[in-house]
Formats: sequence, structure tokens, C-alpha cells
Amino acid sequence: MALHETKDVHAGDADTDVFASALSGEILPKYRIPEEHAPSDVVYSLLRNELLLDGNAAQNLATFCTTWSDEGVHRLMNECLDKNMIDKDEYPQTAEIEARCVNILADLWHAPPGVAGTGCSTTGSSEAAMLGGLALKWRWRERRRAEGKPTDRPNLVCGPVQICWEKFGRYFDVEIRQIPLEPDATGLRPHQLAAYVDENTIGVVAILGVTYTCDYEPVADIAAALDRIQAEHGWDVPVHVDAASGGFVAPFLHPDVVWDFRLPRVASVNTSGHKYGLAPLGVGWIVWRTADLLPADLVFNVDYLGGDMPTFALNFSRPGGEVIAQYYLFLRLGRAGYRRVQQACAETARYLAGRIADLGPFTLLYDGRGALPAVSYTLTDPAGAGFSLYDLSDRLRMRGWQVPSYPLPADREETVVQRVLIRHGVTRDQIALLVADLRRAVEHLAAQPRPVPTGESRSGFHH
Ligand SMILES: *Cc1c(COP(=O)(O)O)cnc(C)c1O
Repeated sequence: MALHETKDVHAGDADTDVFASALSGEILPKYRIPEEHAPSDVVYSLLRNELLLDGNAAQNLATFCTTWSDEGVHRLMNECLDKNMIDKDEYPQTAEIEARCVNILADLWHAPPGVAGTGCSTTGSSEAAMLGGLALKWRWRERRRAEGKPTDRPNLVCGPVQICWEKFGRYFDVEIRQIPLEPDATGLRPHQLAAYVDENTIGVVAILGVTYTCDYEPVADIAAALDRIQAEHGWDVPVHVDAASGGFVAPFLHPDVVWDFRLPRVASVNTSGHKYGLAPLGVGWIVWRTADLLPADLVFNVDYLGGDMPTFALNFSRPGGEVIAQYYLFLRLGRAGYRRVQQACAETARYLAGRIADLGPFTLLYDGRGALPAVSYTLTDPAGAGFSLYDLSDRLRMRGWQVPSYPLPADREETVVQRVLIRHGVTRDQIALLVADLRRAVEHLAAQPRPVPTGESRSGFHH
């Protein structure tokens, strides 16, 4: 029934029960904007009800992204609803706060001191990766042109990268040379590079927090391997660190791991403010070591908004609230607060790793020590366990837990892993409850007659 047919019944709805309203007795329109308006509290309540069908974010152990924010963040986000990141002339203070965040991150990652940080906010690490990749491609091309050499076959060398780097390759015409995982490796191993890097390599992406295993790649050793390649062949290949998760973990939990601008070969770093940066969804960051590493050619000066502002971004209009929330969190938590939050997550991850090891059928792939606050594991005997990790994911989902199972990338595709991420807001008690459910699920599945193999349903794995 079309909404306009019930127009008269809507009169006075605001005074009546939402769920006795006319609209709540209808199937909501799905293909066409209704002719008439409806009371906001009714529409709000009906949509809220529909959204309950989404997974419960607090039990989503698949995502790295922020699912809990304090009251200050909620209030600022609400009050900043109208701030447009691109209108730097209308919202100069929002632009100023973005610049402060860039400076803070440049300092956190040990960029050369004494100059303003070069970088910007983005919608997330994916956009940041596009910008970092573009700068690598532009600089490589300038170098090649200056040498009178062809510029038509750029490649980017990396290990098991997140999908955004494959997108970068496809969108911007760069061959992605993804190095296969070695047996038992949780990421790229430096000695593998020599067989993949050549004169057309625009850069190497090192990952601080591999999506599939949660481990850090050894960025310093990767840089050292590239030093040897340069000494042998003369190719000066820069490193971009994809620190989507690790960029806000390593500085607080692993200050001795040298992965950032302390390594001269690291040209740029991206991170997701909305992951362990603890900001609400919609903010990422890219920072270059020095201003000369960002080709001027890629920077547009936007002047028709009334000012003359340099911008480097794929989007134009974009909300400013997340950037302000990021700055709020820097001030609110301080270094000590970030350390405490990440430490609490890491301790809970190690607690979980211990319990999973005790359960019996699992082998830990990453035990929560030394890298991200997370745990990844496999079935020790996939053929003899009597169930698959996909079965286990499905079983946990019955209790609301979202724990993804997925195959590792090449050359370890035969290994199926399960991963649990611990982030701000995931408590020790919750994880103890998860462990109890894990134990019950394993007992239940192991007692079942072996199911006939079908085209297995995989649970979602997006991050
Ligand atoms: C999450 C993630 C990305 C993508 O980041 P978004 O902020 O979701 O766009 C890229 N690389 C790695 C290693 C990630 O973990």
C-alpha cells in the first residue's frame, strides 16, 4: 500500500504509540520515494528496528574498526555534522585541526623534526593507500623520464596485502607483484624481495599488521634487503608502510620495533584513524617523510571556495567530524591513555590465545604477542577434526559472535584460519564468554556425525 493512501491516519501520530501508527502497519517502500511525509519519530523507530537485523557490533570480532566511542566523541560528531573537510576557507579551524593531527602523527612516527608534517586525512586507509601509491608512481616516473627510460610498466612489490592495494593497481595501472607466503610465514620475508624487485618497481609495501595473520612484517629487514638490492643494481626503491592497524599500536606497545621514518627508506605511512586510532568510522591518514616526497603535480590548489588551499585527495566534500574526533582522542587519552587502551587489548588477546591453545584442536598462528592485539589460529588436524573452521564460525554466529574463517593467501591457500580481533570496548569478561561458547561449539561439532562436504559457506571477511 502506498504511503499517501494513509495520509489522514498519520494526523496526530506524534501523540500516539509509534508501533500503533499507520506506517508501522505497512511494509516500508523499497523502490520509490513515498509521496507523503511521515512523522520523524515513527520513521526513526521503524528504521532502528530494521537495523537490529545487522550484526551486533559489540560481538563483531572480525573488524579492526571502532565500535565504541565515549560521550565526548558522540557529542562532537553530532555538533560537527555540518563541517565539510574540503571547505577549508569556511572551516579554517577544522583545517587547522587536521594539520595538527598530521603533525602529531609525523612526530609519533619519527619524521625528521622541525618542519610541519606533510600529509592529510582521508576517508580511511584505502584512500590513503591510493595517495601513497600515486606519489610512488609519480616519483618513479619522474626519475625514469629524467633518465630517458620507458615509463610504461610500473610495478609495486608486496606480500599478502589488503584488497585496497589490488584496487590501487587496477585503478592506476600498476602491476601488483604479490609475493606468495612461504610455509609458516605470517607475511613477506625480506629475502624474497630480490626475485621480484626490478628497475620498474615504484615501491615496496610493508604491512604493519597483516590482515590475514595480524603479525607485523619486518619493515627494518625489508629496508635492509632493499639497501642490498640498491648496492647491487642501483635501484633506489622506497618503502611505503601500510600501518592501517599497527600505526596506532606499535608506537605505544612496541616502541623498540623500528618500522617508521626512523628508517630512511620509508617514504610514507598510512593508518586508519578509525581502527586502533580509536576515532569513529570515516578517517584515515597518510604522512610523507618530507614534503619533497609528495610530487607537486598531485596537489591541487582549490581557490573557488574563497581561499587558495592545497588539496590532495580522491574525494571533494567529506565530513570533518571524524578528524575533530581524532584530535579530541589525542587530547583526551594522551600517550599514556593510548598505551593503556592498547595494553588492555593486548592482554586480553594473550588471555584468549592461552585459552584457545588449551581447547585442544587448534594451533595458534599468531598468539597476540609482538604485534596486533589479536589471535589467529588453524585446526591442527583439519582432516581429522570432524568439523571445519567454517562450521565453527557458523556455530558461534548462533550466539551472535562474528568470528571469520578464511583461507590464507597464496601459497598457503590450503590453510584455513580463524581470527579474533580485540579492540577498544572488547572486555576480558566478553572474551571469557566467547571462550565458553567456543568450547561448547567444539564439543557439539566434534560429537556430530561428519557432514557430507558441500560448497562450504564462508563467513564474511572484509577487513
Ligand atoms: C583495514 C586495512 C586497510 C583498509 O583500511 P580502511 O581504513 O578500511 O580503508 C588497508 N590495509 C590494511 C593492512 C588494513 O588492515
